[in-house]
Amino acid sequence: MNDQEMRALVLTRYGGPDATEIRSVARPRLDPGRVLIQVYAAGLNPVDYKTREGKLRVIRRYPLPCAMGNELAGVVVEAGPGTTRFARGDRVMARVPKEDMGAFAEYAAVEESLVARVPREMKLEVAAGMPLAGLTALQCLRDVLAVAKGEEVLITGGAGGVGTFAIQLAKHFGCRVITTASPRGEQLVRSLGADEVLDYTAGGLDRVVARFDATFDTVGGAALATAIGATKRGGRLVTISGPVEPKTALIDLQRGAGLAALFWLVSASIRRVARKHGVRYRYLFMHPSGEELSELAALAEAGALRVVLDRVFPFEQIKEAMAYLEGGRAKGKVIVRMREEAWT
Ligand code: NDP
Repeated sequence: MNDQEMRALVLTRYGGPDATEIRSVARPRLDPGRVLIQVYAAGLNPVDYKTREGKLRVIRRYPLPCAMGNELAGVVVEAGPGTTRFARGDRVMARVPKEDMGAFAEYAAVEESLVARVPREMKLEVAAGMPLAGLTALQCLRDVLAVAKGEEVLITGGAGGVGTFAIQLAKHFGCRVITTASPRGEQLVRSLGADEVLDYTAGGLDRVVARFDATFDTVGGAALATAIGATKRGGRLVTISGPVEPKTALIDLQRGAGLAALFWLVSASIRRVARKHGVRYRYLFMHPSGEELSELAALAEAGALRVVLDRVFPFEQIKEAMAYLEGGRAKGKVIVRMREEAWT
């Protein structure tokens, strides 16, 4: 491997774990407006295995082979032409552009508008777990649900990567937080500030009717319909795992009427359920943002937000890490480490 090459987890075709391999590939080009980051750690997300399986092909097709991975933390090694905010040596994190991926690699070139500084007291392998799940939770709670102080908010899947951020942010916004978790996750979600925990393995949410002002669903499936029923008439619900709906196509993906019509069909039945209960239904696709990520970093610095790590794997074991995440039992974030950070 020469100094223009790097190791990356490459997607060679759509399929199971064998569709990916660690390979030597060319380092990314540093286009204007981008910074070249030496990646120390990357966070894993369900979108990684869904992409590998080809489940998102309706929305986005990648030219294969391509490097995978959606969020990272590392150190700037070069700031490209036209950049102003970062310099060599800065410790940074980013949710990389969806069109590119490429976080499971030793280097990534990322638009500086998507990059944020990592708090001084936060290790890079911890920061790597913040961008995707943290931004998702922020955008759902603040931008879509617009939760207000004193409201009762339901968060399904509180022990997961997104849920652990959502609980803390909803508390930060002054809400009373009720979350679903199994007994395996109860202690964790309480430590993050959950006021009430409903054991989903014992049908804890099934008995709740029209109670919550706002609901953030991270689980989808049967849990979503139950969550709609548990939301007040006139309340609002956002899901990141249920059926996509027309606004997802028009607003989040900035696509046309064709995709919106398809999403209208896909979501017809769940929207009917929501209508029956008088609940406003929305599916959100999160978007990368360096500015919003800086807000999350500031909250972490102020002690209002922490990244919950489940496990950190060496990069060589990324397939084991992905299998672990796919098991669906992660408590907080699963991370791969490309490079050890000197930490004093
Ligand atoms: P995780 O893999 O981290 O979630 C695992 C957690 O979910 C475990 O702690 C598990 O708890 C809990 N869980 C599983 N089933 C249930 C259930 N029925 N009720 C309550 N909790 C449950 O996933 P993430 O949090 O990272 O992501 C969640 C979903 O959101 C994924 O489908 C992902 O693709 C999607 N997503 C979508 C985004 C978007 O932009 N639309 C952005 C980010 C994520 P236990 O072990 O105790 O059962």
